[in-house]
Amino acid sequence: EEFRETLEVLPLSLSDLVEAHRICVCVRKRPLNNKEVTKNDIDVVSIPGNGTLLLHEPKQKVDLTKYLDNQVFHFDYSFDESSTNDLVYRFTAKPLVQTIFDGGMATCFAYGQTGSGKTHTMGGDFSGKSQNSANGIYAMAAQDVFSLLKQRRYSSLDLCPYVTFFEIYNSKVFDLLNKKAKLRVLEDEKQQVQVVGLQEMYISCAEDVIKMIEMGSACRTSGQTSANANSSRSHAVLQVILRRRNQVHGKFSLVDLAGNERGIDVRSSDRQTLVETAEINRSLLALKECIRSLGMDSHHIPFRMSKLTQVLRDSFIGENSRTCMIAMVSPGMSSCDSTVNTLRYADRVKELNGTLKMNDADLPKKIEMEVEDSSSSEEDSIVP
Ligand code: ADP
Ligand code: MG
Repeated sequence: EEFRETLEVLPLSLSDLVEAHRICVCVRKRPLNNKEVTKNDIDVVSIPGNGTLLLHEPKQKVDLTKYLDNQVFHFDYSFDESSTNDLVYRFTAKPLVQTIFDGGMATCFAYGQTGSGKTHTMGGDFSGKSQNSANGIYAMAAQDVFSLLKQRRYSSLDLCPYVTFFEIYNSKVFDLLNKKAKLRVLEDEKQQVQVVGLQEMYISCAEDVIKMIEMGSACRTSGQTSANANSSRSHAVLQVILRRRNQVHGKFSLVDLAGNERGIDVRSSDRQTLVETAEINRSLLALKECIRSLGMDSHHIPFRMSKLTQVLRDSFIGENSRTCMIAMVSPGMSSCDSTVNTLRYADRVKELNGTLKMNDADLPKKIEMEVEDSSSSEEDSIVP
């Protein structure tokens, strides 16, 4: 009977529940927008289904008749432009809600270039005048957390739900639930990482979470701190934490990553932009390496490579950690270079799904070296 209850909350097939991977990598394509249509941009991405994506990369950008050069990518799921947030949620973050009730760590990342749909997917539709954060993954996950809390087998555990919402910009952490207060990240000798002073709000219903998402999102875009802080250059992390007798029982981190575009014109960019870009690249590289080591059950997790991975350290350790990455792509030919980058990144994260377990003998060493290389340049993070 309990099992049937679970299935009602999590309408997935039995095999989905049993065989869910520790690392799930999906891709989502958004529709062409008005601006792209006006500029006669061409849709170069097609999703035939079953996790497959085809990219028709232009061979010669000058002569469009010669543009079809197909590249095929395979992911756990691929969502086309007609997919709703609800559908995407059901196959990505929803199966992870169970993980935190079972005492594990879950993480869901939205990855992709600026404008590809990360915030739309995670936070809901913030375009237009009426905000609709209820249809974002944040809110849907919160709703399912409360559905499971009510189930008999979990209600006896006395779990208390809390939420945190913060932004990482240029290696600095800002509290989105507390007027963008700048916070320090400390690590003790047991490598436990703590964000000092981060507001952890008790939540009594899903509507509480929606209020906080809206408050935090408004705070995120009104960049008053750090001159240029702007949402596309920062990572936003919403965490739903289940506490039991004040100890963390499970934690779900939902991350709206900074735009991965590399194509910023070096000549016309100011120093600030270059520093930001370098930092974003570093943190996205670190993230990839951390997810890879999770997939390999490696003991060497290079989480110190960036503030993002340091703060998410808990998510990369433990038997019961699960991660889902949703790679967002824009459909237009004008975005082709970024789209290729996004798909290659997602492909490398995905590759670890079991396949490398057999021949990864020399991989942990390499990763270990990278930890040493980069940790020396970290400031103010390690407690002596
Ligand atoms: P990002 O956060 O990746 O920079 P956004 O989520 O802000 O991108 O999306 C850019 C614009 O495209 C927004 O106006 C958003 O509403 C729209 N958009 C993104 N994804 C979709 C989608 N799947 N369907 C319809 N509109 C979308
Ligand atoms: Mg965004």
